[in-house]
Amino acid sequence: MVTGGRVAVVGGSIAGCAAALAAHRGGAGEITVYERTGGHLADRGVGVAMHDARYAELAAAGFVDADMPWVQLTNRQWYVRDDSAPSPLGRRLAGTPFPFRSYNWGPLWRELRARVPASVDFRAGTAAKQLRLITRGVELDGEVYDFAVGADGYRSLVRTVACPATVPVYAGYLAWRGAYPESDLPDAHLWPTDSCAYVVFDGGHIVIYRIPDAAGGHRVNWVFYTAPPAGYTLPADEQRALTPALAAHLDSLTRDRLPPFFTALIEATPPGERFVQPLYDFTAPHYATDRLALVGDAATVARPHTGAGAVKALQDAAALRTALSASPTFAAALAAYTETRAPAGRTLVDLGRSLGRAMVQATPAWDAMTEGELTAWWRTADGSGAFGGSELGRRA
Ligand SMILES: Cc1cc2nc3c(=O)[nH]c(=O)nc-3n(C[C@H](O)[C@H](O)[C@H](O)COP(=O)(O)OP(=O)(O)OC[C@H]3O[C@@H](n4cnc5c(N)ncnc54)[C@H](O)[C@@H]3O)c2cc1C
Repeated sequence: MVTGGRVAVVGGSIAGCAAALAAHRGGAGEITVYERTGGHLADRGVGVAMHDARYAELAAAGFVDADMPWVQLTNRQWYVRDDSAPSPLGRRLAGTPFPFRSYNWGPLWRELRARVPASVDFRAGTAAKQLRLITRGVELDGEVYDFAVGADGYRSLVRTVACPATVPVYAGYLAWRGAYPESDLPDAHLWPTDSCAYVVFDGGHIVIYRIPDAAGGHRVNWVFYTAPPAGYTLPADEQRALTPALAAHLDSLTRDRLPPFFTALIEATPPGERFVQPLYDFTAPHYATDRLALVGDAATVARPHTGAGAVKALQDAAALRTALSASPTFAAALAAYTETRAPAGRTLVDLGRSLGRAMVQATPAWDAMTEGELTAWWRTADGSGAFGGSELGRRA
């Protein structure tokens, strides 16, 4: 283990808070976090899913714990619209185990932030602007560090220095998302709390599950994946508000493709609680150089069908901590870190593309599928078995 030294972490979201914890536990002397957003990041979140087995590993590694509020999910029910079905939920195609905890991004971030030691200089409202490699380490906006961690999301500044050729690639479709208090959901009793619903249709699907609110109750959380309407152009910045054309497209799909319970569920979402996210993916060929490390979305963005975005960010931090604790120099630690984590990023991006093809871009004839056929089809789409994230410590 190297003790002492100065470490900069760019980004103070999920990966950034976890990386600061990792650097602290890995022996770093002075840690500075640069977070562009001032005040609380916590107010904008919707749902984050964490496989039970991945949770157990991350809890053992000390990056999550039982005080972070969650909702336990146990099963996934697949539904399709069928106007002759007696249930407002539509026709149930299959039921499969779904051992996941669901989190609300806001409270999860707040809990992680609270676990960042007071000795860490967390500079909220401070964007990192200029990073360059120097003989003694790196220089970030005039300050010198032994190494820097890029936890600065999919448009990472640190990645532009560590892996300049890696750029996000548009997946060709969007995720419309929303969340609101469960008390506003008509007939909520028809849908059990531990059940995650996948409602499938030609050209897409929605994923719906409950997440905790900040007061011991639940919110309904949904993600609607499908192609945008004709004429859609990608926004230049991180614009998440629905344009009138995107709102109208969501409305018509909701009415035309979903069983009545789920139409009502989406329609109950207040306009201010709906947003849209174009989907991108990429993975950096290496997760570190001798003075720079990438964690979370800065290193890899996989499509959200993988159910592992936050898990992967936390696993990256856990691996960084292990590498720092086990290595004689920072450079050796970063070499060990990239060797463990870069393959995990590739596995997840491949999985996201495979699931995206199967569930959005080339959907099967769902309505004709038996329960056995659907289960077999899912097994093929999840080829590597990495849905929910690979085991912590596994190389791919
Ligand atoms: C406010 C917010 C809400 C989110 N809500 C959800 C959600 O509800 N569900 C979900 O699945 N995922 C959500 N995400 C994304 C999710 O956090 C990530 O996909 C995943 O957890 C990996 O996180 P990350 O920390 O690597 O990246 P991100 O969460 O994207 O964090 C990157 C951070 O870096 C900061 N940053 C970027 N550039 C700079 C710079 N130059 N200097 C300083 N700081 C910089 C950004 O402000 C941001 O806080 C959200 C992200 C944010 C920022």
